[in-house]
Amino acid sequence: SSDLEIVKAHIASYPDFPKVGILFRDMFPIFQSPEALAALENLLVDHVKGLQGVDAVVALESRGFLLAPLISSKLGIPMVPIRKKGKLPGKIRKVDFALEYGTDTFEMQENSIKPGQRVVVIDDLLATGGTAKAACQLIRDFSGDVVELLVLMELKDLQGRNNVQCPVHSIVQF
Ligand code: 5GP
Repeated sequence: SSDLEIVKAHIASYPDFPKVGILFRDMFPIFQSPEALAALENLLVDHVKGLQGVDAVVALESRGFLLAPLISSKLGIPMVPIRKKGKLPGKIRKVDFALEYGTDTFEMQENSIKPGQRVVVIDDLLATGGTAKAACQLIRDFSGDVVELLVLMELKDLQGRNNVQCPVHSIVQF
């Protein structure tokens, strides 16, 4: 079967996790299968190769940290982390963003991307788009150019792609 079919078959779904009414999508079965992980790597690498002229992959904590190196190592480009507040050392820049309840803060290290660099942002799942939107704002604060938000999974009904203000590509749609 195709790489996409193998990847889809290794995404698990959990009703009412972490709370009632949420259908949680779990990507870790992919990582438990070397065959599925190789299939996912093919899909991600082929896609980003097609974008051309990508200077860096920016990974969102925490599951983005597992996906981004699959791409950056194959393309020979840097992987740069965006983390929740207080976890990155040295000089940082930050952006506050709204969650369902309360706010959170994303941080990125000074000099991690240079002005004008073309970056792809990667995370496991796009829901409302609030997380990705904040990441894009932070990258633009560094004068980086967000070529695309790339996610493994997209929850279409929530229309997050209308919220993020950059092109979006998803491997699997729900
Ligand atoms: P958003 O900000 O788009 O509403 O939510 C996306 C963020 O929440 C992502 O960082 C993602 O990791 C996490 N997230 C929300 N729902 C799920 C889910 O069903 N499965 C997984 N793996 N992550 C989720």
